Amino acid sequence: MEEIGLIDCHAHLEELDDLANALSEAKSYGVKVIIAVGMDLDSNKKTLEIAQTNKGFVFPSIGYHPWKIKENEVEKNLTFIKNHIQECIALGEIGLDYKVNVKKDLQWKVLGEILNLAVEYSKPVIIHCRFSHKRTYDMVVERAIKGAIFHWYSGPLDLLDNIIESGYFISATPALTYSPFHQQAIKKAPLERILLETDTPVSYQDKESRPKDVRISLREVARLKEIDPFAVAKQTTTNATQLFQIG
Ligand SMILES: [Zn+2]
Repeated sequence: MEEIGLIDCHAHLEELDDLANALSEAKSYGVKVIIAVGMDLDSNKKTLEIAQTNKGFVFPSIGYHPWKIKENEVEKNLTFIKNHIQECIALGEIGLDYKVNVKKDLQWKVLGEILNLAVEYSKPVIIHCRFSHKRTYDMVVERAIKGAIFHWYSGPLDLLDNIIESGYFISATPALTYSPFHQQAIKKAPLERILLETDTPVSYQDKESRPKDVRISLREVARLKEIDPFAVAKQTTTNATQLFQIG
């Protein structure tokens, strides 16, 4: 398996105190690319810097996460994204989260505007959705977004059919070791529509993740789908390479 480089499609690298170590460890575990995702102005700036100093290994995606939205900061966040969109391979993390204390209409406005930018600049989007899967999907489809990842998908299976039919992706995290909703989605989705990720530094069963843990996502996808890990590595890396147009 060593010759297939893995791609961690979702990591919050700017949150790491041990960044240099995490990156070199990831390389030694066979990770060849990390997609670093930003969440707001400050994290977007740091994400771009990290990508700049790790060119060819870390690729940036900037966004405005629903958890971070504040009414009086929307304008400056959107302006920053617009001004730096050409430096990014994707937009995200963006989406809708109905469990967070941010008004829905404000979340719809922010997501809508960033999706419009994705259309204008032909960028794929990295989507967070919680208790809002249908609305998020509808907003993506309405704009005929070309590439979308429904990150860590654990939503309804009938909507997953729509996601797949629309040509979109879902991504697999180490939560596959224990989350039944995530497991059933990954079991159902064809391998051609699955990407691997870690959502670093999210803790899975009390252990903080790092990009090297994309191997856990790989192992679990292989186990659940009863497919050889080598074939999973090959296909998921191909999927990510094509979606993000890397290399
Ligand atoms: Zn995330």
